[in-house]
Amino acid sequence: MKVLDLRCSHGHGFEGWFASNEAFETQLSAGLVECPVCADTRIVKLLSAPRLNLGNAKAPAEAAASPAEPAKAQVPAEQSPEARWMRAVREVLAKTEDVGERFADEARRMHYGETEERGIRGQATREQTEALLEEGIPVLPLAIPAALKETLQ
Ligand SMILES: [Zn+2]
Repeated sequence: MKVLDLRCSHGHGFEGWFASNEAFETQLSAGLVECPVCADTRIVKLLSAPRLNLGNAKAPAEAAASPAEPAKAQVPAEQSPEARWMRAVREVLAKTEDVGERFADEARRMHYGETEERGIRGQATREQTEALLEEGIPVLPLAIPAALKETLQ
């Protein structure tokens, strides 16, 4: 495990945890390393002696618990699968109209051209969802993390 001192183009300094320098370079070129403060992906590595993670108190519990896991930037919590999922859900929420319990009706009306096509989301019972799918209406069940619901509603 390598701990790298990183800095974004806005001058925010932070530490990134990587399996190796190669892992860092790979993630950097893929735009996966971002500043935890401003999400900037123009990251530079500061010159410093790489340290080994010997499981001291500073080591994130996750890294200590799963040392065999592929390289992952520890500091940008944004990079965790949960954070990525939350971000994806946020995008869906931003692009769709909440029609609430009218979801099944709206989806059906759009499918039959009775109303304009647009992205919608809402609640549907399992029976409603199954009925929509049987009619050939594409719906996608999406479990929205509770944390997001609280901040958005
Ligand atoms: Zn920054």
